[in-house]
Amino acid sequence: MSDRPSLRIVRRQAKCPICGKPVEAAHRPFCSKRCADIDLGRWLNESYRVPAHERPADDGDDED
Ligand SMILES: [Zn+2]
Repeated sequence: MSDRPSLRIVRRQAKCPICGKPVEAAHRPFCSKRCADIDLGRWLNESYRVPAHERPADDGDDED
């Protein structure tokens, strides 16, 4: 029987998915705002494949 206590108290230091540095609590899950911006930029580029024609806060079809 294996009734040993769980030894999962290992502190896993999360790493920034952008640069791999240790994550700062203030910028989770990134190490800094800079990396957060980079990730956001990538995300936006993937979502909006329309250059130049970017309309922020586009809630619905409200074209004039
Ligand atoms: Zn980073």
